[in-house]
Amino acid sequence: MADLNIEKYGSQILRQKAEPVQNIDGKVKKIIQDMFETLHKNSGLGLAANQVGILQRLVVLTNPNTNQDMAFINPEWKEVDPEKEIGEEGCLSVPGIFSKVNRFQKIQVTTQDVQGRQLDFFADGLLARIIQHEIDHLNGILFIDRLSPTRRLVLANKLSRINTNGDHE
Ligand SMILES: [Zn+2]
Repeated sequence: MADLNIEKYGSQILRQKAEPVQNIDGKVKKIIQDMFETLHKNSGLGLAANQVGILQRLVVLTNPNTNQDMAFINPEWKEVDPEKEIGEEGCLSVPGIFSKVNRFQKIQVTTQDVQGRQLDFFADGLLARIIQHEIDHLNGILFIDRLSPTRRLVLANKLSRINTNGDHE
């Protein structure tokens, strides 16, 4: 297993759209295993493949309700209720920055697991927030993109100090 390097704000790969996974082969399983190790080592809630420099639609996370590790392959979500909720978010790719983000409170998730089984389930609260945050990554979107222009302006100085290749100064 390997602890992977995390791409930081400013890195182009965080702005690209990840490609669907065609075959869940040994290589994909190894990436997932490495992503879990990286997630745990950095005490993150979730991690998308873009964040470790891989443009494939893969997400790993720890379900905050059950503490269970989950790997999603080609995940998608849709809202089931227009209700949104504000909650604080941070991101391993945007170190040192935390801000409140408005997200759908309840969503329906469709994904494949590592065995290639199709999963279809509802998620709410923090789990729904993590899933929306991670699938945003697969589409080249960061949580800071979802903040108001005023809030982004407040954070601009901090953002400019993030070193793309290393850690926060
Ligand atoms: Zn993130």
